[in-house]
Amino acid sequence: MKSSLLQLGVIHHRIGVVPVVHALSTIRQTHRTIATLSTRYYQQKRCASRSGITTSSSILRSSLSSSSSNCNDTTTDGLAHRLDGLDQPTVWQEFSPLATQYNSINLGQGFPDWDPPHFVIEAMKRSIDPTFGRNANQYARSYAHMPLATVLAQEYTHRWQQSKLPSHLLPLDPTTQIATATGVTNVLYCALQGLINPGDQVVLLEPYFDIYSSQVQMAGGECVYCPLRPDTSAVGASDVFTLDLDELESKLSTQTRVLILNTPHNPTGKMFNRKELQGIANIVSNYPQLVVISDEVYEHIVFDTVNEPHLSIATINNGQIWHQTLTMSSAGKTFSCTGWKVGWAVGPSHLVKAVTSVQQWCNFSPTTPTQDAIAQALQIAREEPYQGYPTYYDWLASDYRHKRQLLVDALLVAGMKPIVPNGGFFIMADTQHVDFPYDDIANTQLSTAMPGYATGKKMPRDWALSRWLTQTVGVTAIPPSAFYSLDTVDLAANTLRFAFCKGESTLQQAKQRFETYFS
Ligand code: PMP
Repeated sequence: MKSSLLQLGVIHHRIGVVPVVHALSTIRQTHRTIATLSTRYYQQKRCASRSGITTSSSILRSSLSSSSSNCNDTTTDGLAHRLDGLDQPTVWQEFSPLATQYNSINLGQGFPDWDPPHFVIEAMKRSIDPTFGRNANQYARSYAHMPLATVLAQEYTHRWQQSKLPSHLLPLDPTTQIATATGVTNVLYCALQGLINPGDQVVLLEPYFDIYSSQVQMAGGECVYCPLRPDTSAVGASDVFTLDLDELESKLSTQTRVLILNTPHNPTGKMFNRKELQGIANIVSNYPQLVVISDEVYEHIVFDTVNEPHLSIATINNGQIWHQTLTMSSAGKTFSCTGWKVGWAVGPSHLVKAVTSVQQWCNFSPTTPTQDAIAQALQIAREEPYQGYPTYYDWLASDYRHKRQLLVDALLVAGMKPIVPNGGFFIMADTQHVDFPYDDIANTQLSTAMPGYATGKKMPRDWALSRWLTQTVGVTAIPPSAFYSLDTVDLAANTLRFAFCKGESTLQQAKQRFETYFS
């Protein structure tokens, strides 16, 4: 059904709206009906199996004739309940293939389209070549490969000393206060599995990186959402996306087990400033059961290190909530090696244990050569000059600053207002002045991945705009509505997220396509 809709979408795009709309609306209705009936089928099947009825065909018949069900369960056939809804297509599965289909420049997904720096590749060669004697081809220690744990402990000790973490909390112990896993994705998975009991609440700040909510669900937790509110009079992502501390406090209770913080923030590019982090730390300290997970994967992609340095909440107010904080980061963004999947958690041993206790039964250990190579790379990055800059980190920030400007210029050509990010490699653009046939797309290009599909909600405007931009202009973005809960999804309506972790020529090409279409 979806592919026929896509094909018809192509026809619609090429020959115009009217002749196809009627046929499509019939298909759309049929599609919805089938979707509703199949959901009802699964609901009734689950209810029925609980009550001992097993004949599938009778259930399907009754699904077809019944218009209501008193079972609210929506498990997909055969999968565990904790995956309810999680087997559905995602925003990534929709827009990457669509970009390929239309030969569109994909500024959607966030990974660099270049290789890691030479010194990182060389480090990996040394890690796997036995002549260098690094012993990195067998299982690693489960907590973390020791050379990496040692470098990370030194790195964070040094950094957090400078951030005035009290001296009795330092130096960090590499054997108990550092855990590694397969990227932050997996570190977070282990941490949530290790911390959450059924029914515990996890507070997410919207918009949020979409794996958070899925992982909370898999761990048996319940998401509670607190949106960052847009201040349209402000300039720059850090000030446009504001956290109302009273609103945050209203979301917390004795049931709250985890608050996930992300700075620099995906998708907005916001960096939480000291005042905001102090406010959060003050609130969190009133809830001793609460753990802050601070996702800092973009820590080295920051654009004004003097006036707006990256801050870790673990160090704020002299380590006020150090004992309640797990700080996470990974090598993927920093060294342009997202496929290596080396991530880590740093913090007090009782929280690091949440990660390692799951890890030892799950992967036992992440891959050794990648950990070993990143151990070497971290040292070189900090200590040696790179391409005329004092360190690799200085070069990295400068390179991304340049790319950010290229994308800002391109978005202005398209009549969008970029909300200039202070960190990370995404730009949220205000798209309210982009004119496009929203209703045509919303009515004809049904998408099972879009938020609200199951409840019959109209396709969000940002979703439709990203489809239209891909098909008509040849540039693809990610609709941020994928990063909101249904209650607040309308906050995303007039925005799109564009990635600038792309080569200069890719960004120039995107600008040219905008020029061709919009000027
Ligand atoms: N956190 C955020 C905010 C991200 O944007 C990403 C990657 N897009 C990750 C975590 C995943 O990191 P990793 O590749 O280390 O699993």
